[in-house]
Formats: sequence, C-alpha cells, structure tokens
Amino acid sequence: MVELKNVNVHYKDGAKNGVDALHDINLRINDGEFVFIVGDSGAGKSTMLKLLTREIVPTNGRVFVNGYNLSKMRSRKIPYFRRSLGMIFQDFRLIPDLTVYENVAFVLRVTDKSNKYIRQRVPYVLNLVKLADKAKAKPTQLSGGEQQRVAIARAFATDPGLIIADEPTGNIDPKLSYEIVELLKDINKCGTTILMVTHEHDLVQYFGGRIINLSKGSIAFDDYIGGEDEGE
Ligand code: ADP
Repeated sequence: MVELKNVNVHYKDGAKNGVDALHDINLRINDGEFVFIVGDSGAGKSTMLKLLTREIVPTNGRVFVNGYNLSKMRSRKIPYFRRSLGMIFQDFRLIPDLTVYENVAFVLRVTDKSNKYIRQRVPYVLNLVKLADKAKAKPTQLSGGEQQRVAIARAFATDPGLIIADEPTGNIDPKLSYEIVELLKDINKCGTTILMVTHEHDLVQYFGGRIINLSKGSIAFDDYIGGEDEGE
C-alpha cells in the first residue's frame, strides 16, 4: 500500500524563493493496483518517485509505502525497506559484465536467498519475460526491448510488494512498448502493485485503468479510464 498524506516538497535551491515541486498531495494506492502516473515535464513525477523510494523526505506530510512510515524511518532501515521494492528504469541499468541469468541472480544473492531458491527462481522469472533462451547472453547482445524484459525479471525476482517503473518504455521501439506494459500487467496479476510513470499517451489510452495526472505539483486527475485493449 502506498499513501501520501498532505505532502509538500519544497526545494530550497533552484529558483529564487525555491520551488514547490509537490503541494498538498493526498493519495492512496491499494495493494494489487496498476497505476499510470502522467504529467508534463516539471510536474513533479520524479519528486514523487523519490519520495516513494525514500531518496528524499517530504518538507511536510507523511509517506507510507509497504507498511513503512518513510517520513520517520531511520537511515539504517532504508536498505531493508528498499528490498520490498522493485525498480525499473528507462535506461535498464543492467550490469554489463554479467549474463542475463547473473543479472537476475545478483539481486537474490544480495538478499541472502539460498542457492536452491536462486536456481528455481531465476529460470522462472526469465521464462515469465520469455527470455529463457537468452540466459547466457550479455546485455549488450540484446535489443533494448529484451534488456528491459531482463530488468523486469530482475525487479520481480525478489517478489516485491511494489514495482516502480520510471518511463520503462522511454528507450525502446514504440511497437515493443505495448509488450513491456503487457508484461507488467502479467506481473500485476500475480498480486504485485505496479506504479508506472510514462509520457506515452497512446499507451495510457490503450490500456486504461487508474491514471494519476500531475500538473504543476498537484494532482489534476486521479480516476479510472476505459482502455482500448479488449479483454481487460
Ligand atoms: P518531473 O519529473 O515531472 O519532470 P520533477 O519532480 O523533476 O518533475 O520537478 C518538479 C519541479 O521541481 C520542477 O520545477 C523542477 O525544476 C524542480 N526540481 C526538481 N528537483 C529539484 C532540485 N533538486 N532542486 C531544485 N528544484 C528541483
């Protein structure tokens, strides 16, 4: 569950009197939801994601994610909190020297999962993103779309409560963007909450669902729209 209560973020640097990047944000996202976050450049999307990953704390207000009160969390607890999140970035952020298999196994090793579990889990998640046959490849041998699928497998490997995808389709062929969102939808069906920031209006219109539109630091729209994809 994600909850923001009366959240303000004021950056002191930047403009002369500082910048109100977010003001009076109230928001609740329940477990199992799939939410698109949209908004123009400068609207406050990155600031919101930084709040949710505890890179920053709000100037005022409270932020709760996966049962953690982030406004009060001590620094030493942050790494444990972050293990309850999966992150997907526009630029994939795979480790270039490791194989696809090892990129996914790596996040399980750092969270002390047993070798037996890793040997089961990695093939399972690579199969889910349809990349079982690329397990031995290095990221540079893959297309952008394939690299992002590895990143999705890695984010889901730890079975996080929440996956945050920051412009995950920004660097890949527009035709393949739909495939990426479909995969995130499949993962969402397994119970993981998904928050996806995107600029791509076509994608949002196609899939529909809950859309949060940020504008100048406020929530301009937060509602459900019908999608064009049949069967949803
Ligand atoms: P978005 O991700 O929607 O483009 P941001 O959250 O990056 O928006 O930015 C929201 C506002 O806060 C913008 O006016 C931006 O210039 C400002 N801002 C973002 N980060 C900082 C910072 N570290 N210091 C000062 N101003 C910032």
